[in-house]
Amino acid sequence: MKSHYSLVIIGSGPAGLAAATLAADHGLDVALLDEQNQPGGQIFRNMESMPASRVEILGGDYQRGQELVEAFRASDAHYFPETRVWSLNTQGEMGLIEQGMARMISADKVLIANGAMERPVPFPGWTLPGVMYAGAGQILFKQAGLVPMDGVVLAGSGPLLLLLAWQYIRAGVTIQAILDTAPLTNLLRALPHLPRALMAHHYITKGLEYQNEIKRAGVPIIKGISSLEAQGEMSLERVSYRKGLQRQQIETQCLLTHFGVIPHVYLSRAAGLKHHWDHHQQCLRPVSDEWGETSSRTLFIAGDGGGIGGARSAEHAGRLAAFQILYQQEMLTKQQRNQLAKSDRQWMREDLHIRPFLERLFHLPPALLNRLPDNTIVCRCEEITAGEIRREIASGHDHSNQVKFITRSGMGACQGRQCSQAVAQIVADQSNQVISSQSLYRVRPPVASLSLGQLASLFPEEQE
Ligand SMILES: Cc1cc2nc3c(=O)[nH]c(=O)nc-3n(C[C@H](O)[C@H](O)[C@H](O)COP(=O)(O)OP(=O)(O)OC[C@H]3O[C@@H](n4cnc5c(N)ncnc54)[C@H](O)[C@@H]3O)c2cc1C
Repeated sequence: MKSHYSLVIIGSGPAGLAAATLAADHGLDVALLDEQNQPGGQIFRNMESMPASRVEILGGDYQRGQELVEAFRASDAHYFPETRVWSLNTQGEMGLIEQGMARMISADKVLIANGAMERPVPFPGWTLPGVMYAGAGQILFKQAGLVPMDGVVLAGSGPLLLLLAWQYIRAGVTIQAILDTAPLTNLLRALPHLPRALMAHHYITKGLEYQNEIKRAGVPIIKGISSLEAQGEMSLERVSYRKGLQRQQIETQCLLTHFGVIPHVYLSRAAGLKHHWDHHQQCLRPVSDEWGETSSRTLFIAGDGGGIGGARSAEHAGRLAAFQILYQQEMLTKQQRNQLAKSDRQWMREDLHIRPFLERLFHLPPALLNRLPDNTIVCRCEEITAGEIRREIASGHDHSNQVKFITRSGMGACQGRQCSQAVAQIVADQSNQVISSQSLYRVRPPVASLSLGQLASLFPEEQE
């Protein structure tokens, strides 16, 4: 690895792969870094080692990734797998961990294409062994061919939950039930956006196909459930929920939950980029334009890391950012940029027509986010409960940073990834504030765990 590149891209999902291939094909000196050991990101995870039988089960969307990965491999872009970025600034300098050693590199331009993470939503019992995110279940399947024992329960809402159910059924897994937490009124809120959504009707067709397949397999989808709880002594024994006025339960050893995905904003926040709170996506996202330009001239963003748009939009956004970078590096004229980017701009706009509909259909009810019972653990690293957080807010600490300082919530190994949003939402609810870009814990580098030994490896001459 060199110490400087014209363009460094962080993340090898659809956005990063498309950008790296295009920029390298136009002669730019590109490095693509990713903490995974293969290119593909979340959707195309493990693409190069996936047995054909599993590719078949994962479906057509997964298969599409092969083309992207092959084009990237055929390009002159330099690829650095198992390389995690732990700091980034607006001068284009970044800290990495590569093969266990820390190092600093820099670039004229940096494209953040680090994707999304599952939205962490605490609920009673979510820390019990046997309870995992649906995305983690899918990662186990993509990466290692592992599926849960028969009798798994899926709960939450969002397209990924349906996709996973569909994939599990094709893999022969018996699903006891899907507990849908989306309020029934969501459909009414989504309907006015249906005509626009029909312009990207393949998503609706696909969603209906998943639902039909799930029904044909005899899996009950229990809609409009609330007060989800995972219960058990040492590990999960049953899932309990409210349907109407009745509390019901299902015995199971495995519960997979999903409450949508949110942008990974740790690097963009650590770099000091401007962000805003997106009320429809219910998350923080970096401020950026159609070309991926952010509040810094050096840093660009594309894909789900800049706001949730899905894999196809990520691919177009990656290419648009690459066109803009090539233009700024004087490798394309404005006219060439506009001409070459025409179809990506058009496809991306069309693809995004589905979003307002989906955002309303899968909008999470506020009660799920901020009305957790007092004994629910919110910060799972430091085991801080909603009650402890509320006590501190009641005594006048009405910002999540203050709550963090007093209770240690957000100071554990995950550095607040799992509780930052939940704490901000509880604070906003209890102190009657509107949640904003300022509500979450402050983020400072290192944004990924870094041992003192690794940090010391930055200064080999001083190690004696
Ligand atoms: C767990 C999970 C599973 C998903 N599965 C599907 C699916 O099956 N189908 C679907 O349509 N959508 C899926 N999605 C949504 C999906 O991620 C996107 O729509 C699409 O993959 C976004 O592409 P992207 O290029 O923006 O980011 P991603 O595909 O997420 O790629 C981002 C890449 O950045 C890397 N990265 C992140 N931070 C760092 C860092 N600090 N240093 C180095 N590398 C870093 C990650 O390892 C990842 O490879 C999933 C999302 C999640 C969270």
